[in-house]
Amino acid sequence: MALVTRFAPSPTGRLHLGHAHAALFAWRRARAAPGGRFLLRIEDIDPARCRPEFATAILEDLAWLGLDWDGEVRVQSAQLADYRCVLDRLAAEGLLYPCFCSRADIARAGAAPHGPEGPVYPGTCRRLDPALREARLAAGAPHALRLDLAGALARLPRRLEREEEGVGRIGCRPEAFGDVVLARRDAPASYHLCVTHDDAAQGVTLVTRGADLARASDIQRVLQALLGWPAPRYAHHGLLCGADGRRLAKRDGAASLAALREAGTDPAAVRARAGFAD
Ligand code: GLU
Repeated sequence: MALVTRFAPSPTGRLHLGHAHAALFAWRRARAAPGGRFLLRIEDIDPARCRPEFATAILEDLAWLGLDWDGEVRVQSAQLADYRCVLDRLAAEGLLYPCFCSRADIARAGAAPHGPEGPVYPGTCRRLDPALREARLAAGAPHALRLDLAGALARLPRRLEREEEGVGRIGCRPEAFGDVVLARRDAPASYHLCVTHDDAAQGVTLVTRGADLARASDIQRVLQALLGWPAPRYAHHGLLCGADGRRLAKRDGAASLAALREAGTDPAAVRARAGFAD
């Protein structure tokens, strides 16, 4: 099977050297493999943070950097009906429940263990009286949809594994996430749902992403197993740091590809600064 990789940025700002590293990491792998494909996906389901002009700028910045991609660019906000189908499937299996808690409610619940994404949800709305749940839904109360993780894990093999490049098969530890959100209060789907769905829908065989998201692969493996989607291999790469030793972020304007281009830096030099000298 030919290698398929992807770069999947969120259009919440301009790309910086850290993104260039991630994009080049995936692109080089695809281009080095016979018949390999490199896909580009815009992860824009967060209406509050994503802006169309940043999506346009991403394509321009990547092309300037010397990257090309195969096929159409996939845009997540255009796939909402597909995400809805997946949510309906999980709901029909009894693995999804509405959660009316705000962040403040969860913080107030206190003493929640900390997971990779903050306090682990204590499961308050999983235990909600069914009549009360129906009444709140009927009243149009804002809610997220959460996965009943214990229910999901009960249907899967006891030891769930994933293939990490250069390491081999490793055991997943999804419990640390608790009942993850699959549809947000403010968006019809969530990062974990969309990214897992799209990697499967696009036939991605090697998921490459920063080491900061390595744990996310554990919970995404649960969704793949539940929904019968193929298990890709994973390669988590290191994160570039700025002069202050902290990982680069969008707030570091000076490291944006746009700023480098405006300062007259040529693309080959930027590729080298991103860790991929020609
Ligand atoms: N869209 C995610 C981000 O920009 C990355 C997607 C992934 O590789 O999982 O952080």
